[in-house]
Amino acid sequence: MTLQTDIDSAAAQLKGKTPQEVLTWAIGHYKNISLASSFGAEDVVLIDMIAKIKPEAHVFTLDTGRLNAETYEVIAKVQQKYPQLQLRIMFPQAEAVEQMVSAKGINLFYDSVENRKQCCYIRKVEPLGRATQGLDAWITGLRRDQTANRSTMETVELDSDRGIAKINPLIDWTNEQVWEYICANEVPYNALHDQNFPSIGCAPCTRAVQAGEDLRAGRWWWEMSNQECGLHVTSDGSLVRAKDV
Ligand code: SF4
Repeated sequence: MTLQTDIDSAAAQLKGKTPQEVLTWAIGHYKNISLASSFGAEDVVLIDMIAKIKPEAHVFTLDTGRLNAETYEVIAKVQQKYPQLQLRIMFPQAEAVEQMVSAKGINLFYDSVENRKQCCYIRKVEPLGRATQGLDAWITGLRRDQTANRSTMETVELDSDRGIAKINPLIDWTNEQVWEYICANEVPYNALHDQNFPSIGCAPCTRAVQAGEDLRAGRWWWEMSNQECGLHVTSDGSLVRAKDV
């Protein structure tokens, strides 16, 4: 059976299943599987769910070196609440960061799209490549209604860049469902969510949003056309479009 056939069959089998059922299936189906977490609202929901299914499940996160203090605080709270979780914290290659900021400045990303892509590549894409190496599947907290780019995504799909499966257990959930789960299960969450930060990335590239603004309007706001997260980029660091996701 090819990977694509296996994924098609899984997608049919998992239609209408709850996130917990999808996670249980995925953990049983794939030997090497890890949850990718940036400790946003969806990610902490998945951490709580997966820890209840398999307390020693694998989770990885990318510490870009430019995260908010509140993000480190929620990482510490998660480590305390779920001590068995196998959390792998990935850092960028120190030499690459040194060379980049020495040549172009510490806040190079504000100067051009090219610089921002270079920074995202060094701090996120390259470490993500190392984090997903050797995996059969990775789990994300993506939801279909977050941006138009995500509207065609499925619960289980082929990550063609990496040649592995991508599992999106919350794909059909709404923002309201995410927060109901967090409150009902007393899940630790990033305090910035209480300050109008619906989407949280690196500190210099994330701002609060105003009432009525798109959920992702606070990310890379100075580049009006690019609103997709650095985690969902192609291997050369360019941002994905709807057809690529
Ligand atoms: S989000 Fe900003 S600081 Fe973070 S890696 Fe991308 S450009 Fe660099």
